[in-house]
Amino acid sequence: MVTEDIIQRVNFLRKELDRLNHEYYVLNNPTVDDFVYDRLMAELAELEKQNPELQSPESPTIRVGSDITKEFVQVRHKYPMLSLSNTYSKEEIEEFDARIRKETGTDNIDYVCELKFDGTAIGLTYKNGTLAQAVTRGDGEQGDDVTANVRTIRSVPLKLQGTDYPAEFEIRGEVVMPLSSFNRLNKEREEKNQTPFANPRNAAAGTLKMQDSAEVAKRGLDCCLYFLLSDNLPFDAHFDNLQKAASWGFKISPNMQKCSSIDDILKFLDYWDIERKNLPYDTDGAVIKVNSLTLQNEMGLRAKSPRWAVAYKFKAEQAYTPLISIDYQVGRTGAITPVANLQPVQLAGTTVKRASLHNAEQIELHDIRIGDTVIVEKGGEIIPKIVGVDKSKRPEDSVPLVYVTVCPVCGTTLVKPMGEAKHYCPNESGCSPQILGKIEHFVSRRAMNIEGIGEETADLMFEEGLIQNIADIYDLTKDKIVRLERMGSRSADNIIEGINKSKETPFTRALYALGIRYVGETTAKKIAMAFRSLDAIRNASLDNLLQVDEVGDRIAQSIIQYFADDNNIAIVERLKAAGLKFEVEIGDNEILSDKLQGKSIVVSGNFSRPRDELKQLIERHGGKNASGVTSNTDYLIAGDKMGPAKLQKAEKLGIKIISENEFMEIINEP
Ligand code: NAD
Repeated sequence: MVTEDIIQRVNFLRKELDRLNHEYYVLNNPTVDDFVYDRLMAELAELEKQNPELQSPESPTIRVGSDITKEFVQVRHKYPMLSLSNTYSKEEIEEFDARIRKETGTDNIDYVCELKFDGTAIGLTYKNGTLAQAVTRGDGEQGDDVTANVRTIRSVPLKLQGTDYPAEFEIRGEVVMPLSSFNRLNKEREEKNQTPFANPRNAAAGTLKMQDSAEVAKRGLDCCLYFLLSDNLPFDAHFDNLQKAASWGFKISPNMQKCSSIDDILKFLDYWDIERKNLPYDTDGAVIKVNSLTLQNEMGLRAKSPRWAVAYKFKAEQAYTPLISIDYQVGRTGAITPVANLQPVQLAGTTVKRASLHNAEQIELHDIRIGDTVIVEKGGEIIPKIVGVDKSKRPEDSVPLVYVTVCPVCGTTLVKPMGEAKHYCPNESGCSPQILGKIEHFVSRRAMNIEGIGEETADLMFEEGLIQNIADIYDLTKDKIVRLERMGSRSADNIIEGINKSKETPFTRALYALGIRYVGETTAKKIAMAFRSLDAIRNASLDNLLQVDEVGDRIAQSIIQYFADDNNIAIVERLKAAGLKFEVEIGDNEILSDKLQGKSIVVSGNFSRPRDELKQLIERHGGKNASGVTSNTDYLIAGDKMGPAKLQKAEKLGIKIISENEFMEIINEP
């Protein structure tokens, strides 16, 4: 009988899985591990199997997690684009093989074993040998048209080689971000004070959905193809079709293997469970597919996955150990990270004593308590994480964990901003890890670039009490600096020279250097150019700030908050008195005319000159750059490969669409 408890659990799991799907597929920012997600999904599937009356066509067990966003035009798939059923168990792979043999009535089955690339799925349509369209999986029935972005991926051929391809066909594969590109991108993001991507999969999926194709091109995506679809394919074997596709210029995995027995399949899985660590990109498993297309068609599809394929997921190595206590670390931005102190345990060749718990939501989701035996896992990351609790070992007197409510460093009551998973200490100017973070950011290369003060020296100066905030840097004297440990007279001179030189830093970078939360390098530039002086920014209203291109509510609120704090005002005044440039200088950004006064202009696509140059020209002629097309837009300057959604919207609203040349004519008119 279906009890109230079961109904409640099923509803809870559906709601939770819908939320996790949105975070994963749309926001590209998952808050739980895949293993945890897969366990919740398996629990829901089991409950629905045992209680068929609870089944629903809306359930996440039978719907493909959708990546559709509003920013792109949606395109209907000619052939449904599904997910794969997956398992972590080799027994289930054996069951899959047994089922296939039984259903097809033959023992003579060829499989193709492939690596499961950890990226985001793409369907490419070619017409007469030319790339016509690239569409994401979306909800399986329709996806986002990301053709302009996919065109920038070098391994995707725009024109095919040879002549023996079908006049029209689709080829599907995975857009991935190689580890080298991923590490480079995250390093750049950290330098720019932007949140790094959690893993290459999120980075690839997030990049593919950017509005700026030129930026996509810079990020080094790759694309590996693994399935051909057409009404007239060259062969009846999936393997042979892919080899043929390679001859047309597609990038096909060199690591596919034909297997005709379960032993061969298991050998493939064991081999790649180890060897995958040496690949230049992430794989999260292997896919086993029936090779014959005739058999594939005979077996058909389930709602969410084909019946002729299965994914085997590699499991990260795990260990079980008691949780002794939790420390709450305060990061440079004030973010609180709970860290578990564990009874030391051996895991993947190292002794693990500490593990990340991410945030309060994770702790609540797993109901993690002090004294519990927790499951620790080591993925690609250096710090192991806790992915679950062995509840059978829970002590009888255990009590739910109460999350910290005040900052462990400064005692300020913590806040949890809407839409963010972490708690923060709001005491930006009085909490030491945050002050230190601000100082390190201020002196960094892309901010004030103060030569001689690296992270280590900044830490030492802070610890020794020489500097307590960024303004103190300009009160430093050689006498004070040479007193630091291991500091020579020459080095002290260099530091003083570096400090003096930093006063020449242009306003755009000085504004970025202040470290106002959410004001990264590009935003700082836009705000500086729009207001032209720090005083004007300080006096700006929320509405004024929101007018600036790319400034949303979160950034605008943060700027207002920054200037509402007396400590910040005192620091800014001291920096001004020290001679920092807090105004845009006449020169590069000099106003040239008022020809575009009051005009709101959107620039989209690729041009003969860098897009930033066009945007600067707009501002120097009195116009305003806007990011999205609205009924208030005056012009859309359309370049090569511009976002189709923007074009469509502009046409619908009757906005004037002009070319780069037409724009130049307007501003150069005598
Ligand atoms: P999936 O990623 O497990 O498998 C299907 C996908 O595999 C296909 O769409 C395709 O993109 C890809 N693939 C890679 N190599 C392939 C190959 N050689 N042949 C065929 N397909 C290949 O399924 P999914 O539906 O995209 O996502 C579900 C999984 O995503 C879950 O099992 C979970 O691990 C993860 N997920 C995690 C969260 C979270 O919050 N952590 C949320 C949603 C989904």
